[in-house]
Amino acid sequence: MPSSPTVWLTTLGCAKNQVDSEKLEARLDDAGYRRATTMESADVVMVNTCAFIEAARRESVDTVLDHADRKQQGARLVVLGCMAQRYQSELAGLLPEADAVVGMERYGELIGDLDRLTGWEPVRLATSPMDILYEVRRPTPATPYAYVKVAEGCDKGCTFCAIPQFRGPQRSRAPVNIREEIAGLCAAGVGEIVLVAQDLAAFGRDIDAPGGIVDLLRFVGDVEGLRRLRLLYLYPREISDALIAEMAASPVIAPYFDLSLQHASGSLLRAMRRPGDGERHLDLIARIRRAAPQAALRSSFIVGFPGETESDVDTLERFLEAAELDWAGFFAYSPEEGTPAALLPGRIDGVEIAERTRRLQEVQERITARRNAETVGSEFEVVVDQVEDGTPVARSYREAPEIDGVMLLDEGKPGEWLRVRVTASYGSESTAEVLR
Ligand code: SF4
Repeated sequence: MPSSPTVWLTTLGCAKNQVDSEKLEARLDDAGYRRATTMESADVVMVNTCAFIEAARRESVDTVLDHADRKQQGARLVVLGCMAQRYQSELAGLLPEADAVVGMERYGELIGDLDRLTGWEPVRLATSPMDILYEVRRPTPATPYAYVKVAEGCDKGCTFCAIPQFRGPQRSRAPVNIREEIAGLCAAGVGEIVLVAQDLAAFGRDIDAPGGIVDLLRFVGDVEGLRRLRLLYLYPREISDALIAEMAASPVIAPYFDLSLQHASGSLLRAMRRPGDGERHLDLIARIRRAAPQAALRSSFIVGFPGETESDVDTLERFLEAAELDWAGFFAYSPEEGTPAALLPGRIDGVEIAERTRRLQEVQERITARRNAETVGSEFEVVVDQVEDGTPVARSYREAPEIDGVMLLDEGKPGEWLRVRVTASYGSESTAEVLR
């Protein structure tokens, strides 16, 4: 029997896409496909794309075209992910290089598609389930942290966001199913679990899980081997006192609050169909800091939403100074087809958006550096993610993987959990000595 085809998968976009890719790879393993060691040698080259904003779509198309050029002759090219889901039929016409375009809804058919494309005729005893959201991931930890997606889709209607259009309404996984996945990952050596969903704090509303996210946290918090549980993407109105109290008190949940605030101007937030204004955001932050004085806070903001005035940018700048967030990201507004915001008047010129973004970033960089400097002399429990050029790179509860700063240590091996004292800080990074 000829050997099975080899597959290469490049993943773009957010942690939720990474989780999908890991689950798809496990399915491909089960189906007898082998993993290629390089893209150039693969029989099937796949790209899991992101369609979040214009820049992400551009990167996705560029990656597909790059892989089309570099793949070996005869290799099949398959486009997966959000772009495939959102632009299924258009993409097939626009990217003739692709042999197949398979959106998330069709992942159940992916193996059959690959069999047809490669002409491989395997003997298989089991078929894959249709929806990978509910599938428990096979632990193959490459890092001491892992993302676990607890729900897919979103019921909110933010006017700038196309996610509900192509990811659909919220569908939460059953808590037992989530616990099983976390237990498997922890048994394989993962110590930090990062829970993700489009609207994480709304978890459970669509299923019979009355205690929602708080009950889920309690239900999974005692999994053996779990050292740190982190939550990403908290919609401000969903952050209840019960959730804050649970995050402040639990020994395993990181007191790390990733607030999805988007702006501080009340009128712009109304136009985004989002709650609050700078003052209410500050109230929320004060509630969090009262309950958890050690809390680390992160947020992300959209710059250049239609109609944003200089005075709105001033409002956001004043808010940043008052909020003293530990970390913040700023994203240029990008009009998304089919969203109400794309039809709004008052589009801001790209150069102006870049200028506003730079100005806000500078303000936040100073604040981040100041917050980081305040940790000098404090002790933290950290996990070493990797050793880079001989230097162990670690994170405490204050730093989420891949988006925040890091701590550079004097010793430590990947996967080790250590007690350290911060010795100095440099912008978003710090150095720390290991306490034995
Ligand atoms: S809550 Fe997040 S995912 Fe949901 S519509 Fe708003 S921005 Fe999009």
